[in-house]
Amino acid sequence: MNYPLIFDGHNDLLLQIQSGNVASGERGFMGSGGNHIDLSKAQSGGFAGGFFAIFVPDAGSASFMDEMMAVSYDLPLPPPLDWARSAQIALAQAAILIQLEKHGALRICRTADDIRGAMRDGIMAAVMHMEGAEAIDPDFHMLEVLHAAGLRSLGPVWSRPTIYGHGVPFRFPSSPDTGPGLTADGMRLVKKCNELKILIDLSHLNEAGFWDVARHSGHPLVATHSNAHALCPHSRNLTDRQLHAIRESDGLVGLNFAVAFLREDGRMDADTPVSRMIEHLDYLIAELGEDRVGLGSDFDGATVPEAISNVAGLPLLREAMKAHGYDDTLMAKLCHGNWLRVLERTWA
Ligand code: ZN
Repeated sequence: MNYPLIFDGHNDLLLQIQSGNVASGERGFMGSGGNHIDLSKAQSGGFAGGFFAIFVPDAGSASFMDEMMAVSYDLPLPPPLDWARSAQIALAQAAILIQLEKHGALRICRTADDIRGAMRDGIMAAVMHMEGAEAIDPDFHMLEVLHAAGLRSLGPVWSRPTIYGHGVPFRFPSSPDTGPGLTADGMRLVKKCNELKILIDLSHLNEAGFWDVARHSGHPLVATHSNAHALCPHSRNLTDRQLHAIRESDGLVGLNFAVAFLREDGRMDADTPVSRMIEHLDYLIAELGEDRVGLGSDFDGATVPEAISNVAGLPLLREAMKAHGYDDTLMAKLCHGNWLRVLERTWA
């Protein structure tokens, strides 16, 4: 079958490489078996690339995946991180991405045309993204330097608080309206990102932070990896009101494959049918229109449906989309076309 290539809104491969879970060197990067993305599986799955997150983990190594197996949960937010350690880790992950480009494993893309070119050339397209702005100093020196290195997307918070705002905790069931939004520095960050034409990712903001960005940003509103709250009432998902604001701004939502954000019961249980992903796609298309929905897998950062398992399972998702009745035009939009459209508008 000749399915359209997939350009994806979120992965955590850089953290996996930095943690030593994925080997990387002169031949690019190869998985150890347990992770989601490697070069050969990407080829067979039609994974053309996407957003590669720079993400600073907590100093401890607590995993919250197991805790999300419960019937309901409200995980405490980790404490804020200090700048020096965060800057060190963020720089190391940016350097890993730059090394991968030098070794020919991928191409760092700064424009929508860069992404189109990489897809045409059969080389993995990588957008440098930062999930949580712990490494960004309030004078924005780090932001300037990383922008020059290729940073084109930034989430002001990853759930834990930063000097820029309060994130959304992992809570089920829960509204995303969980606390205060952006700080005054957070508003300045939004303005600076607008100036530099860096996409502002809404995915880990709580509802107040979402509306702060909606009021202060001149860009299309984008949640790179989030789902519909009406189908899965998780604090991380988007309400109909939020979806309507995204539609009004001509933005985009990337479907998150993480099972806790897909399932009606909010459990991080891999035994989740692919049809559940189609139900969220249907809902997002109904609320946002066919031009404002894409994919945002969360590969290498979360548990995905067992049938998909990793990038090699992506043909299965496209088969299900096709079987469900999505025509070729819609398939191409959902798989990469809509992402290219919104990135073109944001970065131009
Ligand atoms: Zn995330």
